Amino acid sequence: MTAFPFDNSYARLPERFFARRTPTPAEAPRLIRLNRDLADELGLDAGWLAGPEGVAALAGNAVPEGADPIAAAYAGHQFGQFVPQLGDGRAVLLGEVIDRNGRRRDIQLKGSGPTPFSRRGDGRAALGPVLREYLVSEAMAALGIPTTRALAAVATGEPVVRETRLPGAVLTRVAASHIRVGTFQYFAARGDAEALRALADHVLARHYPEAAEAANPYRALLDGVVAAQAELVARWLLVGFVHGVMNTDNMAVAGETIDYGPCAFLDAYDPRTVFSSIDRNGRYAYGEQPRIALWNLTRLAETLLPLLADDETAAVAEAEAALAGYAPRFEAAYHGGLGRKLGLGSLQPDDPALSGDLLKRMAENQADFTLTFRTLCAAAERPEATAAVRDLFVDPTAFDTWADRWRERLAREDRDPAATAAGMRAVNPAFIPRNHRVEAMIEAAVERNDFEPFAELLEVLSRPYADQPAHARYAEAPEGGGVGYRTFCGT
Ligand code: AMP
Ligand code: MG
Repeated sequence: MTAFPFDNSYARLPERFFARRTPTPAEAPRLIRLNRDLADELGLDAGWLAGPEGVAALAGNAVPEGADPIAAAYAGHQFGQFVPQLGDGRAVLLGEVIDRNGRRRDIQLKGSGPTPFSRRGDGRAALGPVLREYLVSEAMAALGIPTTRALAAVATGEPVVRETRLPGAVLTRVAASHIRVGTFQYFAARGDAEALRALADHVLARHYPEAAEAANPYRALLDGVVAAQAELVARWLLVGFVHGVMNTDNMAVAGETIDYGPCAFLDAYDPRTVFSSIDRNGRYAYGEQPRIALWNLTRLAETLLPLLADDETAAVAEAEAALAGYAPRFEAAYHGGLGRKLGLGSLQPDDPALSGDLLKRMAENQADFTLTFRTLCAAAERPEATAAVRDLFVDPTAFDTWADRWRERLAREDRDPAATAAGMRAVNPAFIPRNHRVEAMIEAAVERNDFEPFAELLEVLSRPYADQPAHARYAEAPEGGGVGYRTFCGT
């Protein structure tokens, strides 16, 4: 029986795109969690996956039939510094399957041992970061944000040595593809025009088939990636997500959120928020993300120059025109989204000023990002509910004076207040992966081998827009607004 109906298009690309490498077996694999819904969506047999043969495959102890395990080559700008060779140092792509919706999906093991791209790393992953990626990526999916998914987490039964000895684990990650801006940079840096064209053609066919029909397919490809990233980053901002390490090797050309290392969600709203301990200059702060995404896209555009036009001046003009599409696309997605968060169906010219003013007052008053918007939903319906919003502000009158203008604007919407509130609840989550909850979940698993908090948090976060009174504590902000919270890279 073929457990995975693999069809491995990336492995059919030229040899210099990757290194063939089987995963390194784990000593004592044990399934922590299988994502049964996702298994079904992929057309995989969840029962088999949860059994001994499935777990062996998910741990890297057995290579399933039809797999062609490879570690992909890529480069990347890390904190602005170009590194010509990075690559999958602790991951192997088992292969691709076509899911029930006809979409091609990568199935990758992360933490499955060294590869030719490991440099000084051990190719392994610690349990804490694996659970964090599993939980946060699934939470993002439930929020409706394009993201890689988590199919399974398996404990290896082996320690990994970081600052201390930690339990090891392997994550099975599912993605539209793992092709990154850095993949293009890898070939561009080598002057390998042939590989660049093959890669671009692969991405066109796989992710932007309509662009392949355009008069200039490579320009249309760039337009497509620009649009996808503009929308993605807008959606991050709208839920208070900080990716934390937006290096060009961590930006997927398919437009999915990828590489959940030091990511975290805002508690109190402050656009300068940085969680990652290695991001000393705040390059990847919450409010910098739109600018950084454009910077990364500019790096992608540079790699495509030889494909955009025959002469360089014309190619640069094409690249600039494509990149000029970013700002309007981002603004429309961001301001449209903010408007919906405020219950405004159609965006009016003054609305960005209205939402911007709220955000400014939230920042000045350390208001919790998620709670402000969620409590605002009830306030749209019942003026008495306003107290719960204003209490989130250090100076509640800062909210009151804004709220007068908001109510005037809402009145012009001419919509039933209950419908407005319902619409707002569908875009303002009650539940996000709160940092203090994520930390407690990791501590329980790592220190006490207790996976109950992981399972419960996952369950709550699978319905982020529903009121779940029994789980109200998961919606609460941490003491002190979460100021000073730090994350560490997922290595
Ligand atoms: P990241 O910061 O996780 O996006 O990783 C950046 C680069 O370091 C990628 O090339 C990874 O494959 C590599 N890397 C990260 N952790 C490890 C590890 N434990 N062993 C080998 N390579 C790693
Ligand atoms: Mg990475």
